[in-house]
Amino acid sequence: MRTIGLIGGMSWESTVPYYQIINRVVGARLGGLHSAKIVLYSVEFAEIEAMQREGRWEDSGQVLAGAARAVWRAGADFIVLCTNTMHKVAPQIEAAVDVPLLHIADATAARVKAAGVRRVGLLGTRFTMEQDFYRGRLEARHALTVLTPPDEARALVHGVIYGELCIGRLRPESREGFRQVVDELVGRGAEGVILGCTEIGLLLRPEDAAVPLWDTASIHAEAAADYALGGELPS
Ligand code: GLU
Repeated sequence: MRTIGLIGGMSWESTVPYYQIINRVVGARLGGLHSAKIVLYSVEFAEIEAMQREGRWEDSGQVLAGAARAVWRAGADFIVLCTNTMHKVAPQIEAAVDVPLLHIADATAARVKAAGVRRVGLLGTRFTMEQDFYRGRLEARHALTVLTPPDEARALVHGVIYGELCIGRLRPESREGFRQVVDELVGRGAEGVILGCTEIGLLLRPEDAAVPLWDTASIHAEAAADYALGGELPS
């Protein structure tokens, strides 16, 4: 079994389900008392968030590259970065270690394509919804058409992620607000919506939409368990 190097804490609220899902998948596949081999490095999220806000991406990349080296030295056979947003610095992380990074956008795109969907909505932080490292990868590498909410709705989603979900607040009003954002995307032709922030799946449930909602945290954790058990990396 491959050892998983988790880099979590962004936020820790969404790292908890990673740990549970990975172990549940391994337990279900192997039976009995089997569980996953995991090394977890959990960061101080306030430090990372300040770097994001101040545009200090190079600095945040150095912190996460250090975390990747730490889990690699501790025996990790591959790296799983438990956040969509910080995949912005994936190249810095990949350059720091001699083991692969299981990219969250690739794992998610594989699931979307397996469902026969090509036109997707994308929710996440402003960085994820607006910058090229994530939506660009979905479009260029996976040939998906990506729709994002209008500016006001992007501000709402971004604000709820940092102001509520990352500190464990799940408010019915915000759930309703997110439902409306999803409905608007569906109205514009989205055949499904990527919950491209690892905390959104804590708030929105499959029954909140008439189309599939792809929870990136669950998908990424399942892909990690699969690769740990000898599967292929999503390409
Ligand atoms: N967990 C979130 C994500 O998946 C947002 C927190 C962060 O900035 O890393 O993007």
